[in-house]
Amino acid sequence: MSVAKTFDLIDWLRRARLPLVIVISVMILGVCFLVYVTGGVRYVFAHSMYVPIVLAAIFFGVKGGILAGLIGGLVLGPLMPIDTNTGEMQNTINWLYRVGFFSLIGFVVGFASDRVAIYIKEMKWQSSHDRPTGLPNRALMADSIRDLSKLSEREGHSHFLMGIVMSNADEVEMNFGVSAIHQLITQMAHVARCELGSSSTVYRIAHDCLGVVLPEITEADVTQYAKNLGSVYKEPLAFGGLRLHCDIYLGGVSLDGVTDDPARYIEKVRYIASESRAKKKQGMLLVSSKNDASVRENIELLGELSQALDVGQLSMHYQPKIVMKTGCIYGAEALMRWTHPVRGKIPPNMFIPRAEESTLIDLVTHFAIDQALGQLSVWEKSGISGMNMAVNISTRNLMNRDFGKTVHQLLDFHGVSGESLELEITETSFMEDVESCMENLTELSDYNVILSIDDFGTGYSSLQYLDKLPVSIIKIDQSFVRGLPGDMGSIHIVEAAVDLAHKLGMKVVAEGVETSEACDFLRNAGCDILQGYYASAPVTAEEFDRLYSQCNGQLLSYPRYGSSAVRT
Ligand code: C2E
Ligand code: CA
Ligand code: CA
Repeated sequence: MSVAKTFDLIDWLRRARLPLVIVISVMILGVCFLVYVTGGVRYVFAHSMYVPIVLAAIFFGVKGGILAGLIGGLVLGPLMPIDTNTGEMQNTINWLYRVGFFSLIGFVVGFASDRVAIYIKEMKWQSSHDRPTGLPNRALMADSIRDLSKLSEREGHSHFLMGIVMSNADEVEMNFGVSAIHQLITQMAHVARCELGSSSTVYRIAHDCLGVVLPEITEADVTQYAKNLGSVYKEPLAFGGLRLHCDIYLGGVSLDGVTDDPARYIEKVRYIASESRAKKKQGMLLVSSKNDASVRENIELLGELSQALDVGQLSMHYQPKIVMKTGCIYGAEALMRWTHPVRGKIPPNMFIPRAEESTLIDLVTHFAIDQALGQLSVWEKSGISGMNMAVNISTRNLMNRDFGKTVHQLLDFHGVSGESLELEITETSFMEDVESCMENLTELSDYNVILSIDDFGTGYSSLQYLDKLPVSIIKIDQSFVRGLPGDMGSIHIVEAAVDLAHKLGMKVVAEGVETSEACDFLRNAGCDILQGYYASAPVTAEEFDRLYSQCNGQLLSYPRYGSSAVRT
């Protein structure tokens, strides 16, 4: 039997009080009876009384030991003869001495038993709690998940797990020491408990992460809780006399079905919380175990990505960009495609964001720019000239010191001039790290490479930087274009973006244009370039050639008067 199981058994026995009281009482009376029928305390059987006394001391500690010693001593005391045959009675001092000795044995064994019990309790606490903060740990969370999952199977309740990760923990630890993390995590747990109520338990599942079990709760409530927590955590937390800001991200996982592997759920909730950080998600990233498989698949995919590059499973498609005023093809956006031998076509959203978290993004971007520039020079030679080629890059690329040089080498290699290449970078990620990208940005603009801000309107802090950056194009995010021309919010944002861009001397691209109505609206609003299914979906280079030659470079034509665009 393992040590833990032995401890558990002793603990259980100590808690089974009434049956033990009965057993020990029966034993004391049994010994008394035995002593009497065997001839009195003169004979050796009186020593059998140690058995119930020791047992009482083990299971009931000092108090139990002394009490059993007293009772045992007394039942073998004034009324018990020395010899039942002769009827000779004991001297008072005799039986008093026995009572005292029995009680002493009870005390000594009870004391030792109490020490062991305290030690067991301490060990149990330590195995289920995080020592520095006193918060329950992942072992307890695993127990709770296992129990809840059984409950959800039987009673059909939905339960959720939430991960709360402090993303600047390393920074805080480096500057203020590890005790700062413990103190801040404790406060975060306190805040979570106050916000989530007594039915939820908060656990520390990693040095920078808390886990919460939310039993019997709907998805809507979880989302609301996350929202509330998100705003409460914006307040700085106290450390010493300082007030420290903690960067906190939330991830949620639904607990569906019985699980024998709660540790995997804990890892998952931690992973989702970190994922929410990687995606800079405000609120909470919520994943149900139905898309658990896809999370795992994503990780597996990343492992296969570099090999996919080597064996030619990746390729580029090209989506035409159209000059609004003329309907002519102005250029193309190169979009990556992965044709997996087993999984089929894998959309870029499934592997690019993961690649962006690793150095693999350098290889991916190198491949994309290389392919796109190679295609551009092929087009140039085949008469499709003056094209602009846009390639998506990641902020991480711009943080790589050699990125500017790499782009320069690729331009040289393919004999393409810098102004034909446009690098698209998404607004959200970029704006947070602008300073560290500045060197590369300047170098790229020295080669006349065009820089555009992708998904414009989805970021937060763009305006303060816009005029300071060597950016010449903004791409209005599809989410605003989709609402055109009916949605007033989209209309205002698009009009404001066009106005702002033009005032800063930039061009405006509207992406995700699917209808003639949206196209008309954007043209009237002064948008410069259009991209979307309305003109063409992304296509292979061969299809692009065909498309181009069929329309002789003018993909859209508009009637001279009237509002609708005509697709050719
Ligand atoms: P993005 O840069 O915003 O690209 C536009 C996405 O919208 C593309 O999805 C495109 O196929 C899709 N799209 C274009 N027109 C329409 C339309 O009219 N309606 C709708 N509903 N969608 C339209 P795709 O190709 O799946 O790419 C998704 C994202 O993956 C891209 O978003 C980009 O962020 C990333 N990505 C794609 N290729 C690369 C690459 O080579 N490198 C990097 N770093 N990211 C890439
Ligand atoms: Ca793009
Ligand atoms: Ca975009």
